[in-house]
Amino acid sequence: MLRDRAGGATCAGMVKANAYGLGVRRVAPALWQAGCRNFFTANMDGAVMLRTLVPQARVHVLNGLLEGGEEDMATHGVIPVLNDLGQIERWSAWARRSGRELPAAIHIDTGMNRLGLPPYEVEALAARPELLQGLDIAHVMSHLACADEADHPMNRRQLDLFNRLRAMLPALPASLANSSGIFLGRDYHFDMVRPGYAVYGGNPTPEAANPMAPVVTLRARIIQVREVGAGESVGYGGHFTAQRPTRVATIPVGYADGYLRSLSGQGSARIGEIEIPVIGRVSMDLVTLDISAVPDDKAVVGTWVELIWGSKMLDELARRAGTIGYELLTALGGRYPRVYRSGENA
Ligand SMILES: *Cc1c(COP(=O)(O)O)cnc(C)c1O
Repeated sequence: MLRDRAGGATCAGMVKANAYGLGVRRVAPALWQAGCRNFFTANMDGAVMLRTLVPQARVHVLNGLLEGGEEDMATHGVIPVLNDLGQIERWSAWARRSGRELPAAIHIDTGMNRLGLPPYEVEALAARPELLQGLDIAHVMSHLACADEADHPMNRRQLDLFNRLRAMLPALPASLANSSGIFLGRDYHFDMVRPGYAVYGGNPTPEAANPMAPVVTLRARIIQVREVGAGESVGYGGHFTAQRPTRVATIPVGYADGYLRSLSGQGSARIGEIEIPVIGRVSMDLVTLDISAVPDDKAVVGTWVELIWGSKMLDELARRAGTIGYELLTALGGRYPRVYRSGENA
């Protein structure tokens, strides 16, 4: 779907942080199967793993060429996203020394002020084109700071600056859009788009309904059910006090699994179609839920409780936790068995 939205642009797959917490070992080959040939990860460890998972793919390292990393990167055939002039100099020197062209991407900073060549370094590079000798530049890229707010003036400013800076360099393929950027229109697509969050079912257009199909479902089974009398409290700190007799279910999920403690008294789950609120504090390994609204025989030990489902709940749960779905996904703990499904009705 993202590939269609991006018009003719190539659709890369962002698989940093273990494919946003979902498990790069299964995600990368699945993306390859779907036609993805360009992968981006944060660091060399991720890149080395990708070289074995998807050996034919182009693997980019966002953190760039760290001091002394030349040999490792060249040996593994990964593509550094060069983030400053020094990295460009070192990579091109390594290419000349080894007598072969080396692949690279160039990251220019158009306002994020985080990684990439600032405008004055792009000007310096434009004045010294010999710095690119020996390099096979796959893309000149930049990254949008506010793409999830379609009307934010920064989007247009970054686009204009990107075009202005790009024009100083030799003609090269370009890449600007993350998930949300794909939905800002054709001007933002260039030659390659780089979606991450949307690939994993997050809403790239927070001001509108989620156009993406659900990807992640999170569920847990009830391990105990109890009646709590009016006036009794539940959980650490006694922060929840039952106003009336309340049925409480406990599930074996906690902040150690990435079910954030800020969801205490804020989160909710569901059994069937019935929404059940999180009550009391989220503990390390346990969450307590008010199941009073669920018929007794529909919420017993062993009953499945859904924590993330459909195309809205990831973003909604994140909002209630005071964060974004990206953080919930990357926090999904190692204790959750991950079950992968593929195919049309996955
Ligand atoms: C993480 C990242 C992306 C993907 O962003 P999403 O919002 O997850 O689509 C794209 N480009 C760069 C440089 C990134 O670091």
